[in-house]
Amino acid sequence: MDTYAYILEDNLYINLTNLCTNDCIFCIRSLNDAVAGSNLNLQSEKIKIEDVLDQVREKITPQVKEVVFCGYGEPTLKLDLIKQVAEFTKKHYPHLPTRINTNGQANVIYKRNVVPELKGLIDKVSISLNSDNAEQYQELSKSKFGKEIYEDVKTFAKLCQDSGIDTTLTIVTGYQNNIINVDNCQKIADELGVKLRIREWLDEGYN
Ligand code: SF4
Repeated sequence: MDTYAYILEDNLYINLTNLCTNDCIFCIRSLNDAVAGSNLNLQSEKIKIEDVLDQVREKITPQVKEVVFCGYGEPTLKLDLIKQVAEFTKKHYPHLPTRINTNGQANVIYKRNVVPELKGLIDKVSISLNSDNAEQYQELSKSKFGKEIYEDVKTFAKLCQDSGIDTTLTIVTGYQNNIINVDNCQKIADELGVKLRIREWLDEGYN
């Protein structure tokens, strides 16, 4: 059985896909099969919600602090599953906040604004900004949508924040020779009214 739910640092992580619309040069998918001892490579992308919920029930403990949609792929590619899992945890574990770690491309993927669909189900989003400009974003992220997606990612962050979702942009510093203009990224976050989180690259992944 594929691993859809795993525990890492007292959070329950939900792994729903290995697909992504980016091909980031620092994606941990290309480094490791496993996180915290859980193999996150999926044998099939055809996922039954009951199998996911079974693993959620099995893995969840009183120690769990947050439910995080984040695996070896872009979680919003499985938007319907996200909504169903979040509905389940909001109903049965209402004290647990929910978060999506995303590349912020969902509105382009679905050709509609999906943010209203997340309201009440998702409390926080963490969105990969990666750079202060579209050219470097595309060099690092290799989005199948091209560098134009960069503006859409920022718009997605603004829509999330404006709808009351606690929104954080992330950048990765210290990966090979890539220089990220952190000050400019902070300015972008400030203009959008969201937080910025700087993730330092370590040998086996991020901090
Ligand atoms: S957006 Fe995330 S999952 Fe997709 S390629 Fe980049 S790091 Fe990997």
